[in-house]
Amino acid sequence: MNRPASTIDETTPAGGAPVSVTPIQREVGLSGAALPCWCGSGAWSLCFRTPKFGLVRCSACGTFQIDPPPLRADDESAEFYTGYYSKGHAPEVQAALRVSTRNAWFWRVAGKVPQLAEVRESVIDIGSGDGHTCAELHSAGWPSVTGVEISRSRVARARRMYPQIPFYDCPLGDTGISEESFDLMVMDSVIEHLPKPVEMVRDLRRFLRPGGTIVLLTPNMESGHFRFLQRRWTGMLAPHAHIFLFAAAGLSELLVRAGFRVVNSGSLHMPVCQPADYLKRLLAGDLKGAIWRAHQEIGGFYGRSIGAGPMLYAVATRP
Ligand SMILES: [Zn+2]
Repeated sequence: MNRPASTIDETTPAGGAPVSVTPIQREVGLSGAALPCWCGSGAWSLCFRTPKFGLVRCSACGTFQIDPPPLRADDESAEFYTGYYSKGHAPEVQAALRVSTRNAWFWRVAGKVPQLAEVRESVIDIGSGDGHTCAELHSAGWPSVTGVEISRSRVARARRMYPQIPFYDCPLGDTGISEESFDLMVMDSVIEHLPKPVEMVRDLRRFLRPGGTIVLLTPNMESGHFRFLQRRWTGMLAPHAHIFLFAAAGLSELLVRAGFRVVNSGSLHMPVCQPADYLKRLLAGDLKGAIWRAHQEIGGFYGRSIGAGPMLYAVATRP
């Protein structure tokens, strides 16, 4: 970032064109393939590098980035996630089994921000995955529920499980849906996948009605989990899929730049793992799994002690 142009060699990031590497970048451990930060200012400094990935942090806004990022442009996303989610997924559930559940993180945010529990007319889930959150909102009484998801394989699954709900496998702007159509927009675990998060959120804003609400959820880089586990927090760092990773102030600033007014933000904790889970892993001979689980739990306990859970949320309205 912002380095002199005296190129000494080139490196090729996943799915991208060769990128120049300067002597200074090499010296401080940067790959030279990092995207500019969404905030447009600041420089990257290296937090750590493993044989598989690096993590860098923006000096201006405190946002982190996987270096090199797994994707560099929005137009790579559909192919990437269609392949990514077409293998190793959970069995499809019967829609009837899910109607009364409230497993989505959204409901945990609604527990903190009561206005979200109020059913209005029209809600959309951006990055709707297999459609479970849409199904939960539908069964909560929302008259109009829509899902958008760029992974075609996941949309196909969602349509099979929840045929009563419209799911689109294209960007919202290509669906033909009118602007100012929605009262509520949910984006759970999406923003960390976007190469241009401000532009995307700003573009989504026009589909909300004035006074409408957006709810963002993303891994919390100030959590006890990350502070304790660092490079071992691989489940949430997910270097094979994530690009930008946020702290609370950065996420709120992003929403402001995209034209929103932030009304609430905070973090959510994971439920404590039951002793029976360890016992099950140990009885199955999965010592490594039990140790991994125990490490995650210590991160969780630390997070509770400092009031910083692994999932960050922000709630904002369109003025
Ligand atoms: Zn930044």
